[in-house]
Amino acid sequence: MEKSEQDPDRYETISIESKIREGVFHKVVKDLENGKAVSCSCKCWSKGNKPCFGMKSIGI
Ligand SMILES: [Zn+2]
Repeated sequence: MEKSEQDPDRYETISIESKIREGVFHKVVKDLENGKAVSCSCKCWSKGNKPCFGMKSIGI
């Protein structure tokens, strides 16, 4: 009877290394249904809600 908030078949997490900081990765969540990035682990997104390099390279 459990209902999951995020369907694992619908989203995929992709790690993209930052070009500015070595060893820093964007963990971009991609919606597999439309192929677009929906969120990211980095500060650009979590603080400013701005699509970052990682999200842009996947598609927004
Ligand atoms: Zn990012």
